[in-house]
Amino acid sequence: MDYAELEKAAGKIGFTHIAPLDPSTIVLKEEVRKMCEANTCGRYNKCWSCPPGCGSLEEFAEQIKGYQHGILVQTVGEIEDSMDFEAMMDAEALHKRHFLQMYEFLRGKYPKTLAIGTGSCTQCKECTYPDAPCRFPDRRVSSMEAYGMLVLEVCKDNHLGYYYGPNTIAYTGCFLVE
Ligand code: SF4
Repeated sequence: MDYAELEKAAGKIGFTHIAPLDPSTIVLKEEVRKMCEANTCGRYNKCWSCPPGCGSLEEFAEQIKGYQHGILVQTVGEIEDSMDFEAMMDAEALHKRHFLQMYEFLRGKYPKTLAIGTGSCTQCKECTYPDAPCRFPDRRVSSMEAYGMLVLEVCKDNHLGYYYGPNTIAYTGCFLVE
């Protein structure tokens, strides 16, 4: 994998922070999955990308096994204060748009790219869950949390920031590439 090329592409797409990801640093934790059950985002049991529909941690561990390269991508947005939900949603939407662009780029170069994103899958306007099978199982994107990853820890272990100050919000996703 040519990391420099991927970094350049990610920067061009618009991510504010980018770092190489060493997949061997990834730990999938049951306690992170448990946080999904608290349903603070309102997406638990609402989408094939989220628990419980997304599959078990064991299945995810099997999926990521064998990947030796990766890239972390981040969008850091500015907010007025911790109640500035509009700016938070704007930053998240921008991040997700850029994430899908990057996914398309990577799939063209590395067809086995595994995308692990932020929040629920946004490939379709409305998810088919639970009434019909996922429309695009090979394009479905689950979040780092759904995979049981503690985002702060993954960032730290791969020398990427996570907190950029009180007037910022950071959204993080990653791609595993082979
Ligand atoms: S690809 Fe569509 S149907 Fe499948 S999880 Fe994503 S939003 Fe749902």
